[in-house]
Amino acid sequence: MSLPLPIYERVALIGLGLIGGSIGHAAKRAGLAGHIVGHARSQATRKRALEIGFVDSVAATAAEAVADADLVILCAPVGALGTLAAEIQGNLKPGATVSDVGSVKAAVVRDMGPFIPSGVHFIPGHPIAGTEESGPDSGFPELFDGRWCILTPVAGTQPEALQRLVDFWRLCGSKVEVMDARHHDLVLAITSHLPHLIAYNIVGTASDLEDVIQGQVIKFSASGFRDFTRIAASDPTMWRDIFLNNKEAVLEVLGRFNEDLSVLQRAIRSGDGEALFNLFTRTREIRRAIIDAGQDSPAPNFGRNPTHTAPGGKDQ
Ligand code: NAP
Repeated sequence: MSLPLPIYERVALIGLGLIGGSIGHAAKRAGLAGHIVGHARSQATRKRALEIGFVDSVAATAAEAVADADLVILCAPVGALGTLAAEIQGNLKPGATVSDVGSVKAAVVRDMGPFIPSGVHFIPGHPIAGTEESGPDSGFPELFDGRWCILTPVAGTQPEALQRLVDFWRLCGSKVEVMDARHHDLVLAITSHLPHLIAYNIVGTASDLEDVIQGQVIKFSASGFRDFTRIAASDPTMWRDIFLNNKEAVLEVLGRFNEDLSVLQRAIRSGDGEALFNLFTRTREIRRAIIDAGQDSPAPNFGRNPTHTAPGGKDQ
C-alpha cells in the first residue's frame, strides 16, 4: 500500500555528517519531507550540506532549525545529545516527533528525556548502518537500504506517532524493529561495541609493537589485521561517546569475552585441537547465517570500497 507523501511536512536534521546527510539524501530520494532544514556546529558543514543539496535550508542554531518542524532528528555524537535537547526544548512544535540516531539508547533516553515537553513525541532510534567515513560528503542515499533501524519508544508513546516514524524509516530503505532501550544496548554491545573495542585494542597493540618489528605490520598486513584496521579507523569522538555511554552493557559482555578467551588460551596451551576445531566450526555457521540473512556479502573484502557498497559498509 502506498503512503501519502510527504510523511512529514518539515524535517529538521541536527548534525549533517554521515548519518544526517544520508537521511537527507534518502528522504529526498523518496519524497518523504516537504522541506528539510539542517543545522551543524560549523558554518563550513552547513554550507557544504546546502551545496550538496541534501537539505533545503540551514539554520545557524539548533533551536532555530527545529521551529515548526514536524520531525526533528538529532544526528550528532551521543555525548552532545542532552545539551542539544536542552537547546531545542523551547522551540519544539506541539505534536512534533523528536528522534535521534545515537548508537546507544538508554543513555540517550536519560539525557534527552527530561527536556522533551509534554505533547511532543520522543522516539529514540538507531539505524544499524554506517561506514568509517564522516562529515557531510560521506552521506549517500542507499546507506539504509536493507539495513535494520531500531526504534526504542519511551513508555506511553502514541502508536500513530510511532507508525509514522516507522513509515519514514521504511521508505528510507530500512527494515524497522521496535525494542526496549536497555535491550538494544545489550545487543549492540555484543554485535558492535565489543568488536570495535577489540579492533581498537589489536591495532593499538600492533602500533606499540611497530618499533620492534620495524614497519612490517603495515607491509605484511594480512586480511585479518587489515579488517581490524578498517574498523579501528572509525570516528574517535563517536566511539569515545559510545563506550562512555554504554558502560554497563559493554563491561558485561567484555567479562564474558575474557572468560571465553581464557578457555581458548588454555586449549592452545594444552594442545586441545578438538576444542579449537569445534569452536571454529560453530563460528563459521554464524557467518553463514549472516550472509543468508542478507546482512553481508560472501565476496572477499579485499579491494572493496567500503563507503558505497551496500551491504559491505559497517554497522554501528
Ligand atoms: P559525523 O559524520 O561526524 O557527523 C556529526 C555531525 O554532528 C556533524 O555535522 C557535526 O557538525 C555535528 N555536530 C557535532 N556536535 C554538534 C553539536 N554540539 N551541535 C550541532 N551539531 C553537532 O557523525 P555520524 O557518523 O553521522 O554520527 C552521528 C550519530 O550517528 C552519532 O550519534 C552516532 O553514534 C550515530 N551513528 C553513527 C553511525 C556510523 O556508522 N557513523 C551509524 C549509526 C549511528 P560539524 O561538522 O560542524 O562538526
